[in-house]
Amino acid sequence: MATMASKRDYYDVLGVPRNASDKDIAAAYRRMAIKYHPDTNKDDPDATERFKEAAEAYEVLSDPQKRDAYDRYGHAGLGGGVHHYEDVEDIFEAFSGIFGDIFGGSRRARRPRRGADVRCAVTLDLEEAASGVKKTVQFRRNKLCGSCQGSGAAPGSVRQSCSRCAGRGQVVQTHGGILRVQTTCPACHGAGSIVTSPCPECRGEGYVAEQVTLEVNIPAGIDDGMSVRVSGEGQPSFEGGPPGNCLCQVTVRPHRIFHREGGHLIIEMPITYSQAALGARLDVPTLGDPYPLEIPAGTPSRDTFRIRGKGMPDVRGGPRGDLLVRTFIEVPTKISKEQRQLLERLAELEHADVTPHRKSFLEKMLDWRNR
Ligand SMILES: [Zn+2]
Ligand SMILES: [Zn+2]
Repeated sequence: MATMASKRDYYDVLGVPRNASDKDIAAAYRRMAIKYHPDTNKDDPDATERFKEAAEAYEVLSDPQKRDAYDRYGHAGLGGGVHHYEDVEDIFEAFSGIFGDIFGGSRRARRPRRGADVRCAVTLDLEEAASGVKKTVQFRRNKLCGSCQGSGAAPGSVRQSCSRCAGRGQVVQTHGGILRVQTTCPACHGAGSIVTSPCPECRGEGYVAEQVTLEVNIPAGIDDGMSVRVSGEGQPSFEGGPPGNCLCQVTVRPHRIFHREGGHLIIEMPITYSQAALGARLDVPTLGDPYPLEIPAGTPSRDTFRIRGKGMPDVRGGPRGDLLVRTFIEVPTKISKEQRQLLERLAELEHADVTPHRKSFLEKMLDWRNR
């Protein structure tokens, strides 16, 4: 506990020279208050003493008369004119203006809040997602009531000053007995006044709903589940701040033949047995013109070919994705007589050809089972 005998020099407490300006003193006090704030130094009782000491020093050095007396006669010159803070609560009370500055409380609370965001939904085809598209969306948002000009009061009546916050729109709340925070008054929601005779048009709300039709630019490459933000098309701010945004939630319909994975498109491409065996040139569908893809002789049933740059564009302007072509051998369900004859001939040849292989395969199977 500080006593008169051990009292430190106020300039030393704040760490400023004796000729420090008022601004320097205030800045130094802010630094000390942040450094030794009891909320951030819970386990350090010394910090609370420093916090009190700094408040006392600031009280004296920020007051021209007290500072003058202190400069001339030291602590003795102040007599009983100095508040000895025993309780940090008193410090918050005394310097609420400065603490608002330091901890963002009052300044932040006084800045008018932005309007709320609104949401809308838009559904696209994959082709539209790939090229980018303009879409018309509709949603509801609030607008100022024309009848009462947003006051919420019936014509001929006026708003009454809010008694809860004395018209300030803010109330001070104490958290944990230490940190004081200014918050929006719950009675008037920050307006500082309340409606006693509500406007019939808007039932005292000050705003009415409106239907908005908007054209939204959907950028090329947009993916299912992404949102497009249309700045300033959200709810108006009834505290005079900027309006909110409109967030347009995008759904991309599944495509008949392309499956999308991030920037890549995947297509399941049927090939015949003879194409797989002999190799072939396939006309692979893309989002644009068909792409001629050569598959080599002996292509297995499940193989993947990559066509670079034929996937989706990147919504952030990066490189375009690829088109992945997955082949599978399509077994015909209906065949002509001629095809049947050829296949039967093929089967005979295969039987003759593959028998040695077949045998070794069966041997392998037995080996595996007997392991
Ligand atoms: Zn109204
Ligand atoms: Zn109020």
